[in-house]
This record gives sequence, C-alpha cells and structure tokens, in this order.
Amino acid sequence: MPKKEKTKRRQSKRYEKYKVVDGKVKRPRYCPRCGPGVLLAVSSDRAHCGKCHYTEFSGSGEK
Ligand SMILES: [Zn+2]
Repeated sequence: MPKKEKTKRRQSKRYEKYKVVDGKVKRPRYCPRCGPGVLLAVSSDRAHCGKCHYTEFSGSGEK
C-alpha cells in the first residue's frame, strides 16, 4: 500500500523540517519573565512570548 506509506512519510518529513528549522535558526528560548517552561515564539530575528508579550530581538550583531 504505497498510498499509506506516502502519507506517513510526508507527515514525518514535515515534523522533522519544523524541528530542524527551529534548532538551526535559534535554539529554543525560554521567556525570562515567565521562566523556563514558557517557550518564546521565534520569528526570523525576534522572539516573542505569547503569555506576557515579552519581545526579544536577536541577530542584531551575532550574524
Ligand atoms: Zn513571558
């Protein structure tokens, strides 16, 4: 059943891609206000906490 296999492969790839991108751009950041456990949503070059709306800009001089 190649159809079933294809679907599974696609899902796995998608999950892997997300993980790689997240780890490649920037390792998971935790909110300094909410403490460890609350992850910041990392955009292209900024991290945002959806809980306390803390925003952190990164990549200004690191690149
Ligand atoms: Zn926060």
